[in-house]
Amino acid sequence: MLAGVIEKTGSLALQEREIPVLTSDEEVKIKVEAAGICGTDVHILADPPGHPSTSGIIQGHEFVGEIVEVGKSVQNVNIGDRVVVDPTTTCGFCYYCQSGEQNLCENSSTIGIFMDGGWAPYSVVSSKNIHKISKTVSPEVAVFAEPLSCVINGMNKINVQLGSSVVILGAGPMGQLFTQAVKASGAGTIICVDLSEYRLGYSKASGATHVVNPQKEDTQSLVKKLTRVGADIVIDCVGMLFDQSIDLVRKGGQVLLVGMNEHAKPMITQYNIARNEITVKGTFIQNCDFPSVVRTLEANLLDLEGLITHRLPLNRVHEGVEAMRKGEAIKVVLYPK
Ligand SMILES: [Zn+2]
Ligand SMILES: [Zn+2]
Repeated sequence: MLAGVIEKTGSLALQEREIPVLTSDEEVKIKVEAAGICGTDVHILADPPGHPSTSGIIQGHEFVGEIVEVGKSVQNVNIGDRVVVDPTTTCGFCYYCQSGEQNLCENSSTIGIFMDGGWAPYSVVSSKNIHKISKTVSPEVAVFAEPLSCVINGMNKINVQLGSSVVILGAGPMGQLFTQAVKASGAGTIICVDLSEYRLGYSKASGATHVVNPQKEDTQSLVKKLTRVGADIVIDCVGMLFDQSIDLVRKGGQVLLVGMNEHAKPMITQYNIARNEITVKGTFIQNCDFPSVVRTLEANLLDLEGLITHRLPLNRVHEGVEAMRKGEAIKVVLYPK
């Protein structure tokens, strides 16, 4: 089978691989119907890479497919079921796993980053990592399960109420999903901020009531004008705008830090956080949020179809990665054959 393999640090190669076989009774074999390219994939394939990975493995951590084989002890799915994959593997015995905070597991790994993933026609994974989803959800929409799980984890940490004002910094795939999620949760004023007009166009379609390009307009004065006191909630999907988030949020408001950039060292005036009673929360991947994701997708609550900008056969994966890198894509969906 033709697979997208992390050839060496920062580069992807299409390689011929054997179709994988089950190696334990609790595994399943998935015929991959669709797979996504995520921002993390672009970081992995950068030179120097902005995210670690294991060379020689099949990339792709967002994928959906049909079960074609089940190990003897598998109970949660049958052959023919459509499933989405939770790409994170956890140990089950560390402090965090045993406390129900598996996303903070000390020994976690990721399918499609450190172990063979879904940029291939077949993938073998543990039955613990799959979630059945109705066939009424198309494969390309189901590809959003993994990024949406991260959004649901973040949404559970903030309190969006009817009419809330929300500023979303960054209008890439995560920014778009947060825009749709806060809209669906009743936010009244949704202000999306990005340097790319292309991305801001999608933000409008996702439900933004206002979009701002900081190169053309001052974000803080617009947010002040629209909300009078500052936003109830600011969500940083960029990963380096903590200081700006503090400037945009109202007293008593909430800041959610979603994006990750380990090199960002923003200057924070700690005084403002204490004096203004600002709540700051970080959020990382997802924790037992796949059942909510499946319900959200099956209920068709969001316009995910509208975020798909590219549909490509797997052998054109490089084109998809390039479009993401240039900021000329929101979601790229790959179809392995
Ligand atoms: Zn991802
Ligand atoms: Zn653990």
